[in-house]
Amino acid sequence: MPFQVTNSPFNEEQVELLNRLWPTLNPAQKLWLSGYLAATESVGALQQEAPVTKEVTVLYGSQTGNAQKLAEKAGEVLKHRGFHVTVSSMLDFKPSELKKIDTLLIVVSTYGEGEPPDNALSFYEFLHSKRAPKLKHLRFSVLALGDTSYEHFCKTGKDFDKRLEELGGKRLYERIDCDVDYEEAAAKWLNGVLSELDKQGAVSVVAPQPTQAQPTALYSRKHPFEAEVLENINLNGRGSNKETRHIELSLEGSGLVFEPGDALGVFPKNDPELVDLIIQEMKWNPDTPASVEGKEEPLREVLLSRLEITVLTEQLLQSLASFSHSSDFHTLLSAEQEAKRKDYIKGRDVLDVLREFGPWEMTPGQFVSSLRKLQPRFYSIASSLLAYPEEVHITVGAVRYEAHGRLRKGVCSTFCAERLNIGDKLSVFVHQNPNFKLPKDSNTPIIMVGPGTGVAPFRAFMQEREAIGAKGKSWLFFGDQHFVTDFLYQTEWQTWLKNGVLTKMDVAFSRDTKEKVYVQHRMLEHRKELFRWLEEGAAVYVCGDKQNMARDVHETLIHIISKEGNMSSEQAEAYVADMQKQKRYQRDVY
Ligand code: NDP
Repeated sequence: MPFQVTNSPFNEEQVELLNRLWPTLNPAQKLWLSGYLAATESVGALQQEAPVTKEVTVLYGSQTGNAQKLAEKAGEVLKHRGFHVTVSSMLDFKPSELKKIDTLLIVVSTYGEGEPPDNALSFYEFLHSKRAPKLKHLRFSVLALGDTSYEHFCKTGKDFDKRLEELGGKRLYERIDCDVDYEEAAAKWLNGVLSELDKQGAVSVVAPQPTQAQPTALYSRKHPFEAEVLENINLNGRGSNKETRHIELSLEGSGLVFEPGDALGVFPKNDPELVDLIIQEMKWNPDTPASVEGKEEPLREVLLSRLEITVLTEQLLQSLASFSHSSDFHTLLSAEQEAKRKDYIKGRDVLDVLREFGPWEMTPGQFVSSLRKLQPRFYSIASSLLAYPEEVHITVGAVRYEAHGRLRKGVCSTFCAERLNIGDKLSVFVHQNPNFKLPKDSNTPIIMVGPGTGVAPFRAFMQEREAIGAKGKSWLFFGDQHFVTDFLYQTEWQTWLKNGVLTKMDVAFSRDTKEKVYVQHRMLEHRKELFRWLEEGAAVYVCGDKQNMARDVHETLIHIISKEGNMSSEQAEAYVADMQKQKRYQRDVY
């Protein structure tokens, strides 16, 4: 294995020299060198000396676990290089400690409309409040995770970076903003941070502690497993406005494992109809060779399985600019038209741009290199390995809507609904979500709020609790449009209710009555009992729509606590924040 900045105590220059020297040595020379080094006095002295290490604090704010994983990795590497490292979630970190820290690394994602992850919120608010201390002694660096297809790309990371500077902190290494494929950028950031720490003499060369060899999963995002489809059925009845697919996949032979609360990453294929329309629009030959990441395939295949052709981003529009002769397009791309451009992006796709802003002078190769790699979609896992060993189940709501005169389709959900048959293979990998986990103590009561497809992880929760014979009470709030057609997994819930695995269930079918009824209305109706459960230590889980449902359920929860606990809204908010700290309020919302 070559020497790297991340697996040795050497800086980039030294690593380069070592990598040049090492392969030229024969085994006898290597042996002599290691014996010589072991015997050298200076090394002996170094090993006896108390290491002059420095403290580094790595804080993460993570919604789905990516930022957490990267922060932990950074912690490992820093430890390996002799630092004293504390890695902590922002939620568990006491802001009063900030004044005692001299090196701070932040790894934080942004979710939704530029919001901090749940476990970053209180620290974010503290830092942006008047109570935030002056941080003249602090050097810091921020790794921001995000997605360029969202308007407020990496906003939380940018905000932290700006605010730490405002408070007097010195940037140790420039912030790096990562798009969905974050590995390379994150490695660059870590290398940059390490080099700066080296330059600033922060670390003495102590004998590195051997890092534990991490068992590397055979299958991952980079190497997904081809899982066979065992079942693919529509859970909604005839006449429903919805189509929700229940998909069962075989994981046999993959070695893939997961826990309830984890998600499954799925690589879809684009809609062939849309691909053909693009190729026809540009009058290209579908068999023209095109290459992505050095792999050459026919253009049609590349557009079907390798690239995003639906999501429009600012970046994509700008990179198509030089190929269009349309003055309207160039006007739209001007700085003054930012608001109009943002509006244009909504509900439109690549085909719209190609149709509207010709004539084009663009080769298939130029087009292909403007597009982003096709990204996996994530679905909360709906099964437990204890109930279905070597299988994974997901619940996928097909997204279809009309916009700008054309039927639009969610890439992965309609791929699953329209073109995925039993016996086919689906490229998948497991995405751990440490922030949506059953309580460690199975006696803890749980309250699950999951309307629509949000119910998926709770099926996994119930299967798990049934399999281990958990004694803790459980309560499900489920909602959807109609009782007759949309009661997802109805018979399973009823069986669990009967056999006591599920203690209580309250349902809200929004379109069966004149007045809409939602899950939060049911929570309100049962507020006394719900508060009693909270006081008994129940953990609350919310899964499903982020835009409206999660926000309304959150407000309802605070309202119930305030009413039933005789608290002001501030006190009720603090009660919920405390639940969050104790991991008794977890959300998986999208
Ligand atoms: P929905 O969340 O759309 O609907 C479930 C139930 O929730 C319905 O009865 C609905 O009522 C109700 N509801 C609507 N507004 C609220 C509210 N403010 N508070 C509480 N309940 C409310 O279920 P789906 O499973 O179809 O979708 C779940 C979420 O997932 C949606 O946000 C959807 O957009 C999103 N989604 C995202 C996908 C993706 O690819 N990212 C794929 C599929 C879904 P009513 O409709 O009658 O008002």
